[in-house]
Amino acid sequence: MKTPFHLMLIPTLRCPAKCAYCWSSEHQGPMMDLETVRAATAWIAALNDSPVTVTFHGGEPLLAGPEFYEAALPMIEEGLASRTVAFAMQSNLWLLDDRLATVLAAHNVPIGTSLDGPPELNDSQRGTGYFERTRAGMEVAARHEIPVSVICTFTAGSVKEKDAIVRFFLENGYVMKLHPALPSLRDSRPDAYALAPEEYGELLVYLLDQYLAHLGSLRVMNIDDIVKGVLVRRGTVCTFADCLGSTYAVGPDGGIYPCYRFVGMDEWRMGNVRDAPTQAELESTEAWRRLAAFREYVDEHCRDCRHIRYCRGGCPYNALAPTGGEVAGVDPHCVAYRRIYDEVADRLNAEMFGEGGMEAMIAGRRRGGKPGIMNLMQQMVSR
Ligand code: SF4
Ligand code: SF4
Repeated sequence: MKTPFHLMLIPTLRCPAKCAYCWSSEHQGPMMDLETVRAATAWIAALNDSPVTVTFHGGEPLLAGPEFYEAALPMIEEGLASRTVAFAMQSNLWLLDDRLATVLAAHNVPIGTSLDGPPELNDSQRGTGYFERTRAGMEVAARHEIPVSVICTFTAGSVKEKDAIVRFFLENGYVMKLHPALPSLRDSRPDAYALAPEEYGELLVYLLDQYLAHLGSLRVMNIDDIVKGVLVRRGTVCTFADCLGSTYAVGPDGGIYPCYRFVGMDEWRMGNVRDAPTQAELESTEAWRRLAAFREYVDEHCRDCRHIRYCRGGCPYNALAPTGGEVAGVDPHCVAYRRIYDEVADRLNAEMFGEGGMEAMIAGRRRGGKPGIMNLMQQMVSR
């Protein structure tokens, strides 16, 4: 089976929102044109023949407008017609209207949007009026039957409201994807919103318990990915897999980067799609060398960790961006990953090899009256 490949297209870094903890967006800056999309497609077509997911990210990708997507989506499909192509988008949905929704629905583009909880809490972090504008966009998406999942960013402040946040997701039936707020590289107070790794670990265990307590009504995508990783013994999302060479991002001007998180950082640029760099040329860049050094560091540093196969040292951006590219450690969220992976692996072992384990697994019943990891797995398989 070929390795799935991920291309992130960043039409612009501009964004009309003003989220307090944002580390990537701008209020001005260039917009990708269709020639760049054409060149990006031709570059990928020559680079490999893997199935590909193309994700539109930002900034705010809907700022590119309907004409862009009406031309870009079929252009990519035609240019990569010899392989399986899937699309995705990350957007605050403020600009989603019927015309945009029609083209996104026609090309099966699921959307991840962002709400941090109930209106007051969300707007205290993301700015006044954010909640209502995103909710209006979600209604447009629903009319066009576009699947929407909801990224919830937990900050040092909002984590104290975690019960209210879970209630909000339960009441609305939203699928949750959790993001821990990262230290900002641009802010004079980089840790003002960042979620400490220890708190992040406890939050993940809390969400696991909430997920199990509300099995069938609540879904937390991060927990699914963590459980799946423990089960199949390899990471199934980029954070817990080796993303080097299986993910690239293309910025508004055609610049190539290892991931959307690096877009706009000159020291992480790997070339331009108009020059169609070969695999060998990509591997000769400084950005590749740094990420390869991180991979080697993980092999050594995490060698004795029981979770290395499905954690892989976490996200290289988290590890390398704050140090200017120098490999000084693994992802600082290691503490959190270890906490949740220990919890899932230990509970799974107890369920499988404890009293009546296999029998309970085969019968699919709840042990001790409470759902466990195996019940969660059954739920995942039946989706
Ligand atoms: S750098 Fe981090 S966010 Fe980007 S693809 Fe790699 S693991 Fe994912
Ligand atoms: S949990 Fe920490 S030590 Fe273990 S593999 Fe992940 S980053 Fe490395």
